[in-house]
Amino acid sequence: MPRIVIIEDEPELALGLRDNLEFEHHNVAHTALGEEGLRLVAQQSTDLVLLDLGLPDIDGFEVCRRLRAAGYTMPIIILSARGQEIDKVRGLELGADDYVTKPFSLRELLARVSAALRRAEQPPPTTRLQFKLGERHVDLTRQQIISPQGEMPLGYYESEILRLLHEHVGEAVPRSELLERIWGVGVGPADRTVDNHIVSLRRKLEVDPKNPRHILTAHAVGYKLVL
Ligand code: CA
Repeated sequence: MPRIVIIEDEPELALGLRDNLEFEHHNVAHTALGEEGLRLVAQQSTDLVLLDLGLPDIDGFEVCRRLRAAGYTMPIIILSARGQEIDKVRGLELGADDYVTKPFSLRELLARVSAALRRAEQPPPTTRLQFKLGERHVDLTRQQIISPQGEMPLGYYESEILRLLHEHVGEAVPRSELLERIWGVGVGPADRTVDNHIVSLRRKLEVDPKNPRHILTAHAVGYKLVL
């Protein structure tokens, strides 16, 4: 039974999540505090973390940073307040895999949880996919970027976006294809999921993220990777 740790300080939201995840046969632990969340994750092997950003003690960004710094690789899905795109990007930069925007539909959250758990169960690929982008070295197998400034973690979805763009290097890949192939069904195409992951990727990979040279926007279509 997959174990999920919920770190969320809104009692009703946390209770609703817990009930529904338990109904789907997950083993759920919940806390309203960041520090306690770190302890819960360390206590038993954990398959997924649902993480609120505004918490009474240390915030969700710090929880995410510490989990990745401690070497945990399980999916982390951020529960983010509406409209705070910059927060979502920052969460992705710190190694979160995905986010949902409050108020989210339970169906969408459960779809994202299932997708994240499915991919976490897959065995790691046997061939190592890595390439260079300017001065940065991208290692998709280890979900890592090595830049002159040091190493940065890539989230699972960021790695998958890069993998797909790399398969079609130099060609525009439609946003809808990225959503469908990476997130699968059940995720609304109208949201800014792909775009926020691209913003985070550019901040990790581009010398000047506002004038990208490698991850380009193909207007009205999607995105394109240029080596
Ligand atoms: Ca909160």
